[in-house]
Amino acid sequence: MGIAGRKIYDISMTIEESIQVYKNKEEKKPEFKNMSNHQTGSVHETRISLDAHCGTHLDAPLHMIDGGETIETIPLERLVGRARVIDVTHVKGGITKADLEQAGAGDTEWILLKTQNSFSETFDFEFVYLAAEGAQYVIDLGIRGVGTDGLGIERAQPEYPTHRSLMRSDILIVEGLRLKDVEPGVYDFVLAPLKLTGIEAAPARAFLLG
Ligand SMILES: [Zn+2]
Repeated sequence: MGIAGRKIYDISMTIEESIQVYKNKEEKKPEFKNMSNHQTGSVHETRISLDAHCGTHLDAPLHMIDGGETIETIPLERLVGRARVIDVTHVKGGITKADLEQAGAGDTEWILLKTQNSFSETFDFEFVYLAAEGAQYVIDLGIRGVGTDGLGIERAQPEYPTHRSLMRSDILIVEGLRLKDVEPGVYDFVLAPLKLTGIEAAPARAFLLG
């Protein structure tokens, strides 16, 4: 199906200085600094300073695996595909295999986890995450990627089993989606990370086509 006339759902976070950041850490907040403007007789120019994990972003294996691959190794072809948005808004804590099974995961290239995280624009230390056994189920499904509306796909579990098991199985991880206004179902999914190189993540625009 073509793109013209289809409904576009922007499922990215808005990047602004007040955006929520992981554990509210000061050093993770973006900064917009005006360098010149019309009042000073020049054009308007802004310098932005941005954490690679700010807002909606794609993680690369280097984030969690010593010697892992960096962000430019992920080709755009892998970032465009069919995605199933799964309603797990009833889940508190870790999303399990049973939660994913119940929601009908597995028939698309991506699954996107719609949780309570999508309904809060402040960082929740008790954010909903993908439990290690849920990650194992994703691996068993053999899908390409998993997206979450939390700023992390796990809540700093010791040894990061969710991140590491997914990355070792070559399953892509997108964090910081906004799915409040999206009904569960199947969509075309496009993820467009900034074209950065040599690092472990990149902020991204993400959208669905209805
Ligand atoms: Zn990340």
